[in-house]
Amino acid sequence: MTILIPVLGDQLTHQLASLRDVDRSGAVVLMMEVAEETTYVRHHKRKIALILSAMRHFARELEEDGWTVDYVRLDDPGNKGSFTGEVMRAIDLHRPTSIRIVEPGEWRVKTAIDGWAGQCQIPIDVLPDDRFICGILKFQTWAQARNELTMEFFYRDMRRKTGLLMKVDGKPEGGQWNLDKENRVPPKRGLNYPEPMHFAPDETTEEVMHLVANRFGGHFGRLENFGLPVTAAQAKSALAHFIQTALPDFGTYQDAMVTGQDWLYHSWLSPALNLGLLTPIEVAQAAASAYATGAVPLNAAEDFIRQIIGWREYVRGYYWLEMPEVADANALGATRPLPEFYWTGETDMLCMAEAVRNTRDNAYAHHIQRLMVLGNFAMLAGVRPQEVADWFLVVYADAYEWVELPNVIGMSQHADGGRLATKPYAGGGAYINRMSDHCGRCRYDVKLKTGPDACPFNALYWDFLARHERRFRRNRRMMQMYANWDRMDPAVRDSYRASAAAFLDTLEPAAKGWAR
Ligand SMILES: Cc1cc2nc3c(=O)[nH]c(=O)nc-3n(C[C@H](O)[C@H](O)[C@H](O)COP(=O)(O)OP(=O)(O)OC[C@H]3O[C@@H](n4cnc5c(N)ncnc54)[C@H](O)[C@@H]3O)c2cc1C
Ligand code: SF4
Repeated sequence: MTILIPVLGDQLTHQLASLRDVDRSGAVVLMMEVAEETTYVRHHKRKIALILSAMRHFARELEEDGWTVDYVRLDDPGNKGSFTGEVMRAIDLHRPTSIRIVEPGEWRVKTAIDGWAGQCQIPIDVLPDDRFICGILKFQTWAQARNELTMEFFYRDMRRKTGLLMKVDGKPEGGQWNLDKENRVPPKRGLNYPEPMHFAPDETTEEVMHLVANRFGGHFGRLENFGLPVTAAQAKSALAHFIQTALPDFGTYQDAMVTGQDWLYHSWLSPALNLGLLTPIEVAQAAASAYATGAVPLNAAEDFIRQIIGWREYVRGYYWLEMPEVADANALGATRPLPEFYWTGETDMLCMAEAVRNTRDNAYAHHIQRLMVLGNFAMLAGVRPQEVADWFLVVYADAYEWVELPNVIGMSQHADGGRLATKPYAGGGAYINRMSDHCGRCRYDVKLKTGPDACPFNALYWDFLARHERRFRRNRRMMQMYANWDRMDPAVRDSYRASAAAFLDTLEPAAKGWAR
């Protein structure tokens, strides 16, 4: 009796459900580097290098741990190029009596796995991915009982479930569930920003980088200076380093943007988390322990834990609840092609240029750059959400569809019509000016609303509200903005709209082939 255990590239967790309670002598672990996964979009070079290096390290650790691993490399001559092709090849080779696999993270892969039963005669056991704190079915039950999917209430349930930052009487530590009002402070001069830990590439990573440079050299992004954690041990060091150096200020400056500072107080743990090198519960527990010992203040620990057990779990539940329809959602009817500067960074808008530079160099941009700069601009400009989603899926080292798509379609583009967020995350230049030091150095004037020197976000913001007036005017959270719009002189309103149109006319669409 042989069990075949396919372990996917984002399932690199030693305690994975499919690897537990199995007699290793009767099992073959199958790990596959397949062309289909490296090219369904043209991922950032650094992202491909990260995934392949982490997979190769994980396979070696499994072997050292006594597992038999059938590891298929991208350049193996017999490689069929797809998960299905490789699983069928492994069935021919190992003659297993059953397959045991943990449910995949993405719809595309689930569809492939669903098709295996029709192609082989052996039982396939698909196990829930219990690295997540909230199971898919649990989220569906939670959602069915509500009219609105309010993240805050979901988060409170996750706090109760995990006991994180909870007192024995069942009340939240500090008396409040959410301490955001103490957070999100603009950056001050003279702050010291710690760098995330850098792991110099070893022989395996060097080999993979060579492969990526040769085979995917035309993809977006820089490979040089690769320093991401590629093993669980490295990821644990990165977590400890973050807790010690950055977490204390994480909440306070969570929304800040500073020219030339790529990480500020963010953790840059999402690549390791999404690969499985860290589990969400261990990351959240590490933050809670740091609070318990007095090493970090409550506002920082609470905010960070909310991102992990709140937002991260919530978007995963949303993904499986709303797929596949949400992938094509376009509630605002946006049709503009993605501008070319998302790939080149060549724009006079300094906030955009900085965010694209960080993205190109590090396969990273922090949440506010993604939401209030890159995403906000695309929504205000009316870019087709599926092009925006493709871009986000390509360019970030942490991008997997289950987490990227809800954040793009739901949170940042409002393309789901408000299922995820009751109000669009739209903002003019004033928000970016308040939270960053970019505007003072930008060629545009953030105080001007119209004309060639005006910050483009300003006119675009009002143009967006005007375009979608029927949809948003009655939204409780937007009434104030429409009251301001109504008070404006009609000639002023016209000049905003004309300025927005003139700017949009200058946008050059991205050349085909960057993303797919
Ligand atoms: C348009 C858009 C696209 C995004 N695409 C992705 C993506 O492809 N992959 C991804 O992991 N995150 C995505 N996010 C969420 C968030 O921006 C990143 O998780 C975060 O920037 C990763 O950097 P960090 O590890 O330094 O995060 P930190 O600021 O240090 O936050 C800690 C952790 O919280 C989790 N987290 C925080 N916010 C979210 C969120 N909204 N959704 C899910 N997890 C969250 C992440 O695991 C992150 O590592 C996206 C957000 C937006 C607005
Ligand atoms: S002035 Fe406008 S375009 Fe320039 S950095 Fe500020 S918000 Fe961005």
